[in-house]
Amino acid sequence: MGRALVSVTEGLAAVRARIDRAVAAAGREPGSVRLVAVSKRHPVEAIREAHAAGQRVFGESYAQELERKAAALSDLELEWRFIGHLQRNKAKVVVAAGAGVDSIDSPRLATAIHKRASADGVVVGVRIQVNVAGEAQKSGVATDALDALVDHVRGLDGLRLEGLMTIPPDGEPEDARPHFRALAALADRYELPVRSMGMSGDLEVAIAEGATEVRIGTAVFGQRPG
Ligand SMILES: *Cc1c(COP(=O)(O)O)cnc(C)c1O
Repeated sequence: MGRALVSVTEGLAAVRARIDRAVAAAGREPGSVRLVAVSKRHPVEAIREAHAAGQRVFGESYAQELERKAAALSDLELEWRFIGHLQRNKAKVVVAAGAGVDSIDSPRLATAIHKRASADGVVVGVRIQVNVAGEAQKSGVATDALDALVDHVRGLDGLRLEGLMTIPPDGEPEDARPHFRALAALADRYELPVRSMGMSGDLEVAIAEGATEVRIGTAVFGQRPG
């Protein structure tokens, strides 16, 4: 999946073309899948280049890095999504950066973000991360605890629950299909519009299974440094 000697602008165009083909192949509405460009560990210049090429939504995985980049890019109009594991004591940083959070996985984390949002007088758009495969040691709420977490988040007025997110187990793209399908079924059950699923290697499978947002890093920006 490494991509050498290709600019961010070209990477972005290639990913948009892949998304458009997958949307068409699935018989879905053009424009029904949003691209989150995952810029973690890439420099702010790369984000500026993507922004100049029309990209507006960026995903980051580390609170301090998000804080730094949001400050450095405050002249641009863009949407930040926090997609990494979030510690409760970093809720303040992420809310202050104006980011949405895709990785809500516990009532305590949801409450921490709600408190910061309420203190700042904002409402944070969130998605619950679901461990659909039931992998040990993996981020995300277990499916049997999802019901209680959805109820909890819906009861917090500092949060707006928009959807679900998942990261399937490592494997071939096709191996991810049952997990994407399971996430889409859960989103249907709770009447949540956003299904954030699909990365550089498996976005086609995710779109075929109903992704409304794909989170793409490597195929847009190239291999992450370090
Ligand atoms: C890094 C990351 C991505 C992007 O992965 P690529 O394979 O580089 O496209 C997507 N989602 C999450 C949660 C990530 O941490």
